[in-house]
Amino acid sequence: MTSASPAEIETLFRRLLGAARELYEASPELCDFVAWPNDLVYVAPQPRPIPALPQIRAMAPDGGVQAALAAVVDHADWVQTYSAAEVGRHFLDHYGYIELFGPTGIFTSSQCRAFIGYWGQGLHYPRHDHQAEEAYLVLGGRGLFEADGKAPVELGPGGVRIHAPFQSHAMKMRDAPLLALCLWRGPGMADRAHIR
Ligand code: ZN
Repeated sequence: MTSASPAEIETLFRRLLGAARELYEASPELCDFVAWPNDLVYVAPQPRPIPALPQIRAMAPDGGVQAALAAVVDHADWVQTYSAAEVGRHFLDHYGYIELFGPTGIFTSSQCRAFIGYWGQGLHYPRHDHQAEEAYLVLGGRGLFEADGKAPVELGPGGVRIHAPFQSHAMKMRDAPLLALCLWRGPGMADRAHIR
């Protein structure tokens, strides 16, 4: 893995981007939510590991975007927005995301932002909000999506959930982990989410 050349690593990230785009294009709700950006520029990430990498790698046999993600786990700059004081150590050991594209993404874009996030089995992602409008697309596993003013719904692969600006939302993973593509658009796109 570590012996891969920069060009090989870029190819792996472009495969992941392509796999995510295929799933986006298969979802009319996501296509209505935001156009796929046309200003993407690859910026080689500085690898930054998180404890959950073995769990994310374990989803690779499911193929598709999960295999494409597993191929880049050692090369990606994984992000954890929250501190242990906010969410606890256990949460941080079973969670993390990459910014696939966006203002500070692996592919930069000023048009919209996309994350691929992982939450481990049994994890409770507490209520949080942000100004940017958000669309989740479940890539693998499943989770219970809760939001103010909306009935909770359990979503598996292909499931879409949209959150309005500052609409408080939470997720509960029960008998499976959750891997999701998360798109942000509009004002506040470069901000972070806040636990309330
Ligand atoms: Zn959100």
